[in-house]
Amino acid sequence: MKFALVNGERREAEPCLMGKCLGCGNPVVAKCGEVRIKHWAHKTRARCDAWWETETEWHRAWKNQFPSEWQEVIHYAENGEKHIADVKTDQGWAIEFQHSHIKPDERGSREAFYGKLIWVVDGNRRVRDQKKFFEVLRDGGGRLFDSKKYPELRPISWPEGALFRDWIASRSHVFFDFGEDELWWLLPQSNEHGAFVRSIARQELMGFHSKGHPTDARGFDALVEKYYQENMKDISSRPIWPQFDGPMRAALRYRARERAEQRAWKELQIKERNR
Ligand SMILES: [Zn+2]
Repeated sequence: MKFALVNGERREAEPCLMGKCLGCGNPVVAKCGEVRIKHWAHKTRARCDAWWETETEWHRAWKNQFPSEWQEVIHYAENGEKHIADVKTDQGWAIEFQHSHIKPDERGSREAFYGKLIWVVDGNRRVRDQKKFFEVLRDGGGRLFDSKKYPELRPISWPEGALFRDWIASRSHVFFDFGEDELWWLLPQSNEHGAFVRSIARQELMGFHSKGHPTDARGFDALVEKYYQENMKDISSRPIWPQFDGPMRAALRYRARERAEQRAWKELQIKERNR
């Protein structure tokens, strides 16, 4: 972690400092070696926040762009459960920077816990992700909706590739960071049949989440609200490409039926065997 309590004060790690963990209150020591970034580590292998991820330079660079009092903030749920959010803004958004792989159930728990959650995902962890992402973006545009109303949205029918596989089911706002000026926003309305993606400049996103940014029509909540309006809401529940029912779809339907039949057959065999 970047911060710990030293004599009741939030402090960054410095050589020879000792402190208390913000999360669990156990003693922590400052690690200021050459290899890893300066951080605080528990003295014993204390069971602290199970969701905490070892920080990389990438994490730190992101966090450092926010006011320090927004970084590493404890968020309490009504049942008393608590976790340390990487960033918590004054508009109530928790921002989590995710470098390593996260299991779907843990991703879901975090989304339920924080409610207003933004994921920033390191798109450069796996070598092929960026190339695949842009291939899908280039080839993906089905006619998912009348794009005149949302010209900034890029619809993708049948989103493929590891990044979509890992994040398509998320009900939060996911921003892929490939280390460039533009971030790629995967909207929560997306599902495995169709995804909605838009690019947003890093500075623009940071602007929304800067201190004292207005919460009115110019705020991030208002932007998010725009995509929840009537038109968008039913897109994700509508069958995609209703006008298209060619051989491809017929083949997919056939495969699905085949698989369902195989499953049913297997279950029957197991039942017979156990009789
Ligand atoms: Zn702790």
